[in-house]
Amino acid sequence: MIQKATYWWAWCWVVLPACLHAQGFRISSQMKGDSVVYYVSNDNYCPYYIELHPRVDTVEFAPVHIFVAEPQTKDKRVIAYRKPAQVGKISHSASAYLGNPAQKPDSSYVYSLPYAPMTRHKIMQGYNGRFSHQNQHALDFKMKEGTPIHATRGGVVVKVKQDSDKHGRTSAFAEHGNYIIIYHEDGTFAYYYHIPQNGSKVNVGEQVKQGQIIALSGNTGWTTSPHLHFVVKRTTEKGYKTIPTLFCADGKTKKKLRAWQSYKACK
Ligand SMILES: [Zn+2]
Repeated sequence: MIQKATYWWAWCWVVLPACLHAQGFRISSQMKGDSVVYYVSNDNYCPYYIELHPRVDTVEFAPVHIFVAEPQTKDKRVIAYRKPAQVGKISHSASAYLGNPAQKPDSSYVYSLPYAPMTRHKIMQGYNGRFSHQNQHALDFKMKEGTPIHATRGGVVVKVKQDSDKHGRTSAFAEHGNYIIIYHEDGTFAYYYHIPQNGSKVNVGEQVKQGQIIALSGNTGWTTSPHLHFVVKRTTEKGYKTIPTLFCADGKTKKKLRAWQSYKACK
């Protein structure tokens, strides 16, 4: 008999919505002779980086085990421990991040801008912006609500939140922002925030191409005016880290897009 337990929490290091993403994995355990065997299922379309703490009641009976659960796996054997000497209920706790820290981002990849080719938008806040981007490689593109958002890079859609219609000017509204997360082949994730209620044009599990329309822009969550918050993250042993990327803008490859400048998307 496999004991099923689901853990809906995670450690979060970067921004609040990251907490929401550690969903869709399950760890279970089974007694087999003198061993306790742990299994993992991952319903998601990207790997999970998981720290497993084996427990008997509330006491850890063996060392922590850190492993990667590959996407779309079911009841895969993770590790077997010798049955603990203590008497009690076998359980565990776990923390998890989307992604796999062993994957190294391709820093030479040139992202396209997240809007239609040959159109232009202004950056309202750039990397390390003082309003809400301190220590973050994030970009805010000024955009009227309803502007089509184009994928900056191809990948698989791993998360869509589009149920909210709330917005406000304080960080308390951050959790009400709708967003799409796309997983790239080098292990990075692109986040597209503030899309409107039911504003996604893609579904979880869908493969998207660079330039494909994935959503309309909106104004949900922590915003002062309609815009698209765009950020690329990688997974590390300690959580998520935002990373700078190259963009094709104004017909050239650019290293850094600056606040209050407008940039034309390449063809
Ligand atoms: Zn932003």
